Amino acid sequence: MAIERTFSILKPDATRRNLTGAINAKIEEAGLRIIAQKRVHMTLAQAQTFYGVHKDRSFFGELVEQMTAAPLVVQVLEGENAIKRYRDVMGATNPANADAGTIRKTFALSIGENSVHGSDAPETAAVEIAQWFSGNEIVG
Ligand code: ADP
Ligand code: MG
Repeated sequence: MAIERTFSILKPDATRRNLTGAINAKIEEAGLRIIAQKRVHMTLAQAQTFYGVHKDRSFFGELVEQMTAAPLVVQVLEGENAIKRYRDVMGATNPANADAGTIRKTFALSIGENSVHGSDAPETAAVEIAQWFSGNEIVG
């Protein structure tokens, strides 16, 4: 199994409710290492670029509004099979469908305010990490 890196966001609904430590505990319990982390307040343009793949979806406006409403935490996670491992720990997009014990089942408010983002493939992980971190901010 290869050591991978994935990109994570603790979304505004999580920072607002002071849940960053509780979510980081679940990340670390899953065997993932937080090798870069910072708190940022996304601009509208940054959120539109980040979620560009969804620009034609009905929820796009609501999504960028939520992502820019408050600060969030961007992270790089490292571990064996990190991309899929983190998706498994996150749980399904809609918390109603997420497995017990997952981050979204435990903390998400709704399908939109679902507490975390995780990359879905190696290519998107590389793009998303490069969008938010310079090389010397990532200490593996
Ligand atoms: P995931 O975050 O699980 O990869 P998607 O990439 O499909 O999910 O969607 C990106 C984000 O857009 C979701 O995490 C969620 O915040 C929001 N979203 C997705 N589907 C909906 C929906 N039907 N209604 C409202 N918001 C949604
Ligand atoms: Mg996605």
